[in-house]
Amino acid sequence: MNKYDTAVIGGGLAGFIAAINLAQSGQSVALIEKSGRWGGRAITNKKNQVYLNLGGHALYQAGEAYSILRKLGVSLEGGKPASHIHAIWNNQTIPLLAGPASLLSSKLLTWSNKINLMRLMMKIKQLNPNQMGPGSLRAWAEQEIKDPMVRHIFYALCRTSTYTHAPDYQLAGPALAQVQRGLQGVLYLNNGWQTIIDQLKVKAEQAGVHLVSGKSVTEIVHEQGKVRSVALEGGDSLEVHHVVSTASPSEVYKLVRGAEHTELKHWKEKARPVVAACLDVGLKKLPNTEREFAIGLDQPVFISHHTAHARLSDDGSRVVHLVKYIGQEESDPVTDEQILTAAMSLIQPGWEQEVVTQRFLPRITVTHNYHHVGQPESFAGPAVPEIQGLFVAGDWVSQGEMLADASAASAVRAAQSIIQKSQQDLVEISARR
Ligand SMILES: Cc1cc2nc3c(=O)[nH]c(=O)nc-3n(C[C@H](O)[C@H](O)[C@H](O)COP(=O)(O)OP(=O)(O)OC[C@H]3O[C@@H](n4cnc5c(N)ncnc54)[C@H](O)[C@@H]3O)c2cc1C
Repeated sequence: MNKYDTAVIGGGLAGFIAAINLAQSGQSVALIEKSGRWGGRAITNKKNQVYLNLGGHALYQAGEAYSILRKLGVSLEGGKPASHIHAIWNNQTIPLLAGPASLLSSKLLTWSNKINLMRLMMKIKQLNPNQMGPGSLRAWAEQEIKDPMVRHIFYALCRTSTYTHAPDYQLAGPALAQVQRGLQGVLYLNNGWQTIIDQLKVKAEQAGVHLVSGKSVTEIVHEQGKVRSVALEGGDSLEVHHVVSTASPSEVYKLVRGAEHTELKHWKEKARPVVAACLDVGLKKLPNTEREFAIGLDQPVFISHHTAHARLSDDGSRVVHLVKYIGQEESDPVTDEQILTAAMSLIQPGWEQEVVTQRFLPRITVTHNYHHVGQPESFAGPAVPEIQGLFVAGDWVSQGEMLADASAASAVRAAQSIIQKSQQDLVEISARR
């Protein structure tokens, strides 16, 4: 069979969610993934009994991905990290928060810091991010937070919630919306995010999606302003009415002949990816079990002990994820790795003797775009206006959401646009008869 209603490009979260929604509505769907493995950036690698996501992953419980996955019947089991937070400041680790009243005893903060921080947290919880206008995070912080130490904590909180380290460019509204989501709780998943992908794959098969892996789509063929087919590596081609691409803005741009005359050009040029350096570590045991969560205040790093709350090994090994947020400045992988190992040694002295597995990801793309100054919150897609039948989804196709929430929400929007259009077409055909 080489004719389908829709081809979905990319077998990550967005691709699976779009494909399942379309197939459940009665469409014939082919889902094509270039890698030999399903999952995109949501894969989990298992080595020496330890499950490692690609960098620390947390599912926002108030976010769209959580509710969309639950609606599809995906079981999401794991645990919520507690609010036991250490700060890294001046190359020292200092307890910041160990429970509701513990901020008051933190030695890092003066009385006035503590009061200012509590006021700020109240303000963040209550504000309406949709009414914040197009200003940067820096502009908002300079205006609202006079206390320099509280500002350091604020930026660290924003980095942790959004993975983004660009306060001069990041829009305050969407960043604070994500902080609010984070404050409502996140989930670390047992056995990693691969469990989401594995369940989505079963659901796609049950819904009748035709799964093709290990093959790239080499072209989205369109004629007279309409999608006609997708060409696959090796010379095959699938005749289709619609395409949902979940590839990055630059990848989808390359797949479309004449893309320079479409919005795809604008989206590719305006997208600002977020990249990070990640150190993912499996340890026989944790040298210091008290320290499960540390945020850098004077350096953009974050450390989290995931096995404190989720099952991520078969033999009791402990998993710690470290991130260095990469901003606009030049970054050097060797230095980034040194910064992360030094941070680990600060929090978990002697950790090197306990290593079961360890992986450094020097510059991984966390999201293909974040909401930045000069770009509206609703920026791309789902439809590519110049080519009927062509849709985009993924973490850069956002209407205010971020990260996996944007992937999931945009996938549903793309699928719904196709379903609605197909229903309209049917009504028109039957009216003509
Ligand atoms: C270090 C790190 C930490 C993160 N932490 C979090 C977190 O805590 N919370 C959160 O919500 N999100 C987090 N994310 C983001 C989340 O992982 C991604 O937003 C999400 O997995 C992206 O899914 P996607 O389907 O949009 O894209 P991808 O997973 O990138 O899938 C796109 C797929 O398309 C395929 N493809 C591309 N071109 C073609 C082609 N021509 N033909 C066929 N296939 C093609 C690719 O191979 C890929 O598999 C994190 C990401 C990273 C890297």
